[in-house]
Formats: sequence, structure tokens, C-alpha cells
Amino acid sequence: MTITVQKSNGRVTYSLPIEGVTLLKALYHIKKSEDNSLTFSSNCRSGVCGTCAVRVNGKEVLACSYTIQDGDLVEPLTYHEVERDLKVNKQKRRETLKSATAWLQAPQEATITPEIVTISEKQSDCILCNSCYSSCPVLEVNPNFIGPFALTRAYRYSSDPREGSVKTIIDNIQTNGIWDCTLCGNCTEVCPQGIDPKMDINMLRATSSQFGYSDPNFQTMDFGFGGF
Ligand code: SF4
Ligand code: SF4
Repeated sequence: MTITVQKSNGRVTYSLPIEGVTLLKALYHIKKSEDNSLTFSSNCRSGVCGTCAVRVNGKEVLACSYTIQDGDLVEPLTYHEVERDLKVNKQKRRETLKSATAWLQAPQEATITPEIVTISEKQSDCILCNSCYSSCPVLEVNPNFIGPFALTRAYRYSSDPREGSVKTIIDNIQTNGIWDCTLCGNCTEVCPQGIDPKMDINMLRATSSQFGYSDPNFQTMDFGFGGF
């Protein structure tokens, strides 16, 4: 079987004497046996840390969880600075967490029941693999879009009863935030943790409405009734 890797200096196709293995295992085999210069990121090797996220045939996967298929094309995550081959710099994209002010703004005491925990339990499982960010088509046209994982984190804290100023979070995600999302669902589809950023963005839109915000795109739409 063969797989092709998008390296910094072009695509290289490797023949592998192994099959039915994870992409990460295949990459280590290539590095050890065929191409010592091949560069990629990995850490836990068990789907927990999110370090090894790449794109295979245009879709984001964790290399340690994906089983290679003959003819696969492996590329680095999109919208990230490529440091070398499949290794990208994720730090700049994580700055979006600051834009979304995705942490408690005004902590207050509150009783946390098991029912409350379930509201944002899933969002807390985010491993910051950046797969959702790489899959989002909005970033193609708006590089300043806050993006799915930071908005999911914003939802996690805006729904936390210990947050004493939900409005602060809501205010900070209006520009380049929730209304820029097209609700395409790519982020939800690729998330290895089963998180649903699209739904979280919808929930943030609903909360925004409670604070008097509405979709700015809707306000500027021309419905062809201009003469009436
Ligand atoms: S649902 Fe929204 S945030 Fe998610 S990938 Fe689509 S446009 Fe991006
Ligand atoms: S929301 Fe999912 S896909 Fe996005 S960074 Fe977190 S774990 Fe990765």
C-alpha cells in the first residue's frame, strides 16, 4: 500500500509493507525506515491530547486514531502556519480563546448540581486538537473569525451558573463571532470528542437574542421589497 504526504517541499509517496495500522504508526515507520526528515507532531498516542491532528483526503483526523487506507493523501491542518511538513503552529489559533473571553468573567458562588454539569460537560472534553478550526470554511474568507472551539468554550462558560456576567462573554462574541458562522456543521463532523460546536453557536445566538442582539446579516439583507 502507498500513502502520500504533503511535505513542505512537495508531495512524497511512500510504499508501506504494513497495513491495518494507524496513520501515526505508519508515519513513525516512514521516519525510521524511509525518510528520517519527515516531520510531524504526536504525544499521547492514544487519542487524548489532540497533538497529532492532520487532514487525510481533505478531512481532519487524529493520526493516532485513524487507520490508513491505500492511496491516502495526508496534509497538515489548514489555516495554520506550517512549521515543517505536517507540524503546524497551533498557538496563534489558540489566541482566539482570548478573543472569545472564554473563561469566567465575574466568578460568583453557585450550587452545581449533576444536572447543571451535564449542560457543559461535553464542551469541557475539548482537547484543543484544532480539527474543527481547520475544517471551518468561514476562515477562508474571514481570518479573524473566532472559530468553533473558542465559541464552544464561550458557550461552556456562558452556561455556567458560576458566571456572574454572562453578558460580558456574549458582548465579546458578536464581532467576528457567532453571526459569521454559516452553520455548515463541518466542525461537528470532525470533532474526535463528539462535541457539537454548531449547536453551541446556536445556543449562543439564542442567549444573544435575550440580550437584545440579532443577526446583523439579516438586518442588511435585501428581500426585494424595497418599493413597498
Ligand atoms: S458550523 Fe460554523 S463554526 Fe462550524 S465549521 Fe461551519 S461555519 Fe465554521
Ligand atoms: S471542539 Fe473538538 S475538534 Fe475542536 S479543538 Fe476541541 S476537540 Fe478538537
